Amino acid sequence: MNETTKPLIGYATTADPLPSSGSALTYLLAGNGIFVSAIRPGIQVLMPVGLSNQRIKGLPHLSPHLTVSPRIPKEFLLEVWRSSCNACTESNVEILFHFHNQEDRWNLRVPEQTQNTTSCQPTESGSHASHHQAVVEIHSHASMSAFFSSTDNADETGFRIYGVLGRVNTTKPEIQMRVGLFQHCWNVPAKTVFDIESDFFMTDVSVLSGCQFYSTDLPPANVLESLWN
Ligand SMILES: [Zn+2]
Repeated sequence: MNETTKPLIGYATTADPLPSSGSALTYLLAGNGIFVSAIRPGIQVLMPVGLSNQRIKGLPHLSPHLTVSPRIPKEFLLEVWRSSCNACTESNVEILFHFHNQEDRWNLRVPEQTQNTTSCQPTESGSHASHHQAVVEIHSHASMSAFFSSTDNADETGFRIYGVLGRVNTTKPEIQMRVGLFQHCWNVPAKTVFDIESDFFMTDVSVLSGCQFYSTDLPPANVLESLWN
């Protein structure tokens, strides 16, 4: 999936009034570091980008958050698991799912796709394609574990919530979820996205990795590395 996106970018500090609209994402300098904020129907995120261990004087602190409103009903996640399990046991292939948000309700779609043992890709493109409209995107790793692969990192370059299901043909399937914001990523617990209880039977790999945030873009150059040489 080729998402060549050039988002409109806003910049502000927590001392300024938050820019109201017009930007796809806004970087915010706060007393405790740098955050990035974005909204689309169904999701609102304030993601950490760089936390500072020194106080930025004069600026209020921020707490990161993800709001999925409403959370996606548990029945949809069970449906995704059942279909992933069928695709795994019948053909040993991965499968891709999209969630669309329309008038505060979630709809599950299985888009047209090509599938094999290690990948699944949507075949439609353009602004009316399911892929373009999807706010949440989940794919299965069939019998493999749930993790974001280098292929996933290369594919998942838009602004949406991404998820992977793994070991789907077992009684202890795995799930990993993250918010992706133009290659800024933040692992989030599955229960922030789906309306599930804490003792839900899937293993949530996202929480095992802690509150991880990272970039799938190229790493920045280390400006101190050759400064005094
Ligand atoms: Zn994958």
